Amino acid sequence: MLGWHDVYNIYCVYSVMNLERYWSEKRNDSLSRKTFVEEKGVKKYLLANFSGTAQSIDIGKSAYTVGDFYRTKDNLKADPNDPGALERAVKEQFDMPQWASVALNRSLAETNMTFMPQTKTCNVYCPWCFVDDFNKNGEKGAGEYFSVSEGIDALEELRKDKTIHVMRRSGGEPLLLPWQWTENLRELDKRGLSKEVYFQGETNLMTGHFIDHLQSEGRLDKNFWNEVAAYDNFGVLCSFKGTDAESHLGAIGFSNKKFSFLEEERWHTFDSMVKAGVDAYPFVYDPNPASLKGFLEKGMGKYGPDFASKTWVFPLKMYGPEKIRLERKGISKADLQARLDEDFRISDDMMHELVPKMTGHEYKAVPRTDVQLKVA
Ligand code: SF4
Repeated sequence: MLGWHDVYNIYCVYSVMNLERYWSEKRNDSLSRKTFVEEKGVKKYLLANFSGTAQSIDIGKSAYTVGDFYRTKDNLKADPNDPGALERAVKEQFDMPQWASVALNRSLAETNMTFMPQTKTCNVYCPWCFVDDFNKNGEKGAGEYFSVSEGIDALEELRKDKTIHVMRRSGGEPLLLPWQWTENLRELDKRGLSKEVYFQGETNLMTGHFIDHLQSEGRLDKNFWNEVAAYDNFGVLCSFKGTDAESHLGAIGFSNKKFSFLEEERWHTFDSMVKAGVDAYPFVYDPNPASLKGFLEKGMGKYGPDFASKTWVFPLKMYGPEKIRLERKGISKADLQARLDEDFRISDDMMHELVPKMTGHEYKAVPRTDVQLKVA
């Protein structure tokens, strides 16, 4: 006969199972369905309107918005006429322009500017998120629905007088609408732009089982991951937030520990990409120095030392949209920024110490474009 402890445990396991299914089959699905419309077989995706937003003010400092719905970004803040400065900036800031530079055989100056439509929905709540809350809430609001083809029309128009060789469907969480990726890559190919434009995906890794669900229901091609992996002009920024279940939950704004299964969800999503051969670039935001080593070891257990070679830790600088959010929650922005800065400083030092021991080379010494992750 079962005791109350057994009954309670069964209840807990069942609840967690339900919560996992709820996450992939209900919550993500419901956000996804609200974020596209289908007209005569053509999907149109809800894009964020930048007009009058805190994000728009920031964009104005380094790049510009194109109308209300598109923007550009110069990833590297360095003199475009100084190749050495750009090379240094790749290591000191971001290496995304290098992915395109290698794939398209173009200079960093040519691949620095990125064209970015922004999906107006997300499934998590990172406290330091750079997007105004209403611009990722999955509600239409001032947003508008655009087809992928319309987005590439806007890119082509812009390319008439700007040097742009990179496009990124940003978010929000773009993988709530995975069709965006395949449609975008196909459309670029159809227009003869596959060798001209690198398409960069990005994800918070919270949609792996949702994608499985779409595939099992026949709503997404079973070869989705393999199809995107087959394009040479494609790579994905994979955003690991936090370095263990607890710091992950904090970094995505969840306080309920029942959502700890999202730790495995992110590895499942990442695994799906690596298994299919997608060029996946792991970034860590908001690391917990106490679990950083364990995080790298977990990744190495799955993908070998290449995981440590291909993982970069990134600093976070808050600048505006988070102000209202943090005030509402009674969180001090200065304290949060100080904690992020300190954790990053310690983690960056640790990466310089750990990576040589794990890989035999210095941290960031090998271009990540040279490292193709595989399941060990
Ligand atoms: S994953 Fe986090 S940082 Fe990215 S859009 Fe969503 S809430 Fe913002």
